[in-house]
Amino acid sequence: MLSIISTPIGNLGDITLRAIETLKKCDAVVCEDTRVTGGLLHQLALAKKELISFHGYSDEGKLRMILQRLERGDHIALVSDAGTPGISDPGFALVSRTAEAGIQIEVLPGPTAFLAALSASGLPINHFLYLGFLPLKKGRKSLIATFKDTPHTIVFYESVHRIERTLMELAEALQTQPERNVVIARELTKMHEETVRTTVAELPAVAKSVMKKGEFVVVVGPL
Ligand code: SAM
Repeated sequence: MLSIISTPIGNLGDITLRAIETLKKCDAVVCEDTRVTGGLLHQLALAKKELISFHGYSDEGKLRMILQRLERGDHIALVSDAGTPGISDPGFALVSRTAEAGIQIEVLPGPTAFLAALSASGLPINHFLYLGFLPLKKGRKSLIATFKDTPHTIVFYESVHRIERTLMELAEALQTQPERNVVIARELTKMHEETVRTTVAELPAVAKSVMKKGEFVVVVGPL
């Protein structure tokens, strides 16, 4: 069986009881970075658990090896560095191939940064568009340009290196909608958690002043 396990996005207290139980009883844990997941398992007193590093499609040999173990009856847990596997993280290739092979899959839901940001945003979230990370080059400008006609709340991930540039690009693309709400969620569940609630008109000033450290989720309100 393959167990897909969400892990904390910052605060260890967000690990679920089921996640701990499953990590305890599985035969091995497939993860992105053995140091990151090794640290988590160490904190859960499970440091001896076998770890298999796996980064996605690039690793066909590794993928086959994991599938063979699943086929012979091993219980494998899939985690990513943080949050939900497959959400802007590896996981898709293993889950789809496991499903194709007719092997049982169970899911253990838990933290996901964009859902935490949406629920803290105070914006309407019955309908939303999740975009993961915006493309770095090709298609970036045209995608951001579509935001002005997107009626739903939009949510995407941004790294510390690009947050200022992205907020400036957003301000430019949405300049005809100065009242549109924007929420920037930083370091959710961590010590320096911060949720900045602003509007398109204020974005250039916010872009300059927002703390350039940590991890970010950007939420653009609906039309
Ligand atoms: N799988 C993860 C999930 O379920 O949210 C996302 C992994 S993605 C590689 C990492 C990005 O998620 C970061 O660059 C940031 O945009 C966002 N992120 C992760 N943890 C966060 C946090 N604690 N606060 C704000 N954003 C976070």
